[in-house]
Amino acid sequence: MSSSPPGAARRPPRTAGRGLLIVISGPSGVGKDTLIKRLLELDPNLRYSTSYTTRRPRPGEVDGVNYLFVSRDEFERLIKEGAFLEYATYDGNLYGTPIAQLDAVRAAGHDIVLKIDVQGAEQVRKRASDALRIFLAPPSMDELVRRRTERHSENERDQAARQAIANREMELASHFDHVVVNDDLERAVGEVLASIQQARQRQT
Ligand code: 5GP
Repeated sequence: MSSSPPGAARRPPRTAGRGLLIVISGPSGVGKDTLIKRLLELDPNLRYSTSYTTRRPRPGEVDGVNYLFVSRDEFERLIKEGAFLEYATYDGNLYGTPIAQLDAVRAAGHDIVLKIDVQGAEQVRKRASDALRIFLAPPSMDELVRRRTERHSENERDQAARQAIANREMELASHFDHVVVNDDLERAVGEVLASIQQARQRQT
């Protein structure tokens, strides 16, 4: 499934030569990491925006690769400095997109992918109206629960909290430029690449 809201065609044209800002959002467990990993493998012009977070690293996560892991004090200092394009609280932790890295990558002509929650995507819509915003949806809510349980990365309390957030996030899917159902990874990746290609063509 793919849908475009009526206002999408009226958005300002993107500046030629500058890379696209691509937001991938969607509920926890839907498969954003796997999809983005595959996008980066297939499209050499794409770069990934590494976010700051106050969440603790999960086993196997690497500082500077998965996230820049910082204390709450450090995060608050960065907010005051104006270092973030957007930031949001998700399940008690802060997450934010640093502007400096993003601007440098786009100025060099590369497209940059942000993996952010729905609140963050809403802020990007207001601050960067030329962003391409994609919502990744699960085939069903039962499937979402199954995928997250299989991941074993959260305890039961966190699982329940993330499910409650997911229910609210699903209601906002229609605010995005495209909704892509992650029923089959390669098919979903193809659909996202096609919408990136379309956005590049609008830019030229
Ligand atoms: P997780 O803890 O599972 O890595 O991420 C929790 C949620 O925070 C996910 O929906 C993820 O997309 C979102 N997230 C990650 N980085 C950022 C960010 O920089 N800004 C915002 N607003 N959300 C983020």
